[in-house]
Amino acid sequence: MTDTLARRLAEIEERKLLAAQRASRHNEDVTLVAVSKTFDADVIREAHSLGVRHFGESYLQEWQSKVDVLPEDIKWHFIGHVQSNKIKHFDGRLHLVHAVDRASVIKAMKKEDAHQHDILLQINVGGEAQKSGADPAQLEALLERCVNIPNIKIHGLMTVPPYHDDAEESRPYFVALQRLLDRARTWLDRHELLLEHPCDQLSMGMSGDFEVAIEEGATLIRVGSALFGERDYS
Ligand SMILES: *Cc1c(COP(=O)(O)O)cnc(C)c1O
Repeated sequence: MTDTLARRLAEIEERKLLAAQRASRHNEDVTLVAVSKTFDADVIREAHSLGVRHFGESYLQEWQSKVDVLPEDIKWHFIGHVQSNKIKHFDGRLHLVHAVDRASVIKAMKKEDAHQHDILLQINVGGEAQKSGADPAQLEALLERCVNIPNIKIHGLMTVPPYHDDAEESRPYFVALQRLLDRARTWLDRHELLLEHPCDQLSMGMSGDFEVAIEEGATLIRVGSALFGERDYS
């Protein structure tokens, strides 16, 4: 496994670098989040030994079973659907929660105030009925709910565009998320809230389209299968 993993990681790092260069961006401004859902702790340990520090998980119980047995310097990203009744398990060991998309979740986080919640708002830019994510029209309303809560820090936006085989099909959705981030920053600025902490993160791009996402401003790319291989959900 290590040989394959090392080779795939090197390949992804190279493609990431080239995409950043094409966009005249600094490669260090884009963080690779290795999506390790369905892969066991040994695989994560190997990736960690190769230098990967950011890992993404989608299922609470699975993350909980891994976090205790893995190195403490791992930065854990929760990228799955967030349910209000699970927030009590979102402890300080989570680095960033990517997919907050409704007021009830924000309310639940406010209540769990023993630690800080670092979050992104998930926006359904494709307007797909079956997908999570807030409607773009709700952006300011969600921001307004977050901003005066001392234990919630909103760092930016996240999206999962409609699935296509052709990565170019994702580009308009990535451009749309970048514009929504501008809109969020304008709103925060007008309320003199931008200076308290930066709201500048764009979580977008997966195995099939991360290069296009980098070209359109992604700061966090979520790459699973291109790094670890196909997932087996059985
Ligand atoms: C599983 C998952 C990924 C990784 O997908 P790949 O296509 O395997 O890279 C990224 N983002 C989210 C939200 C996911 O659930």
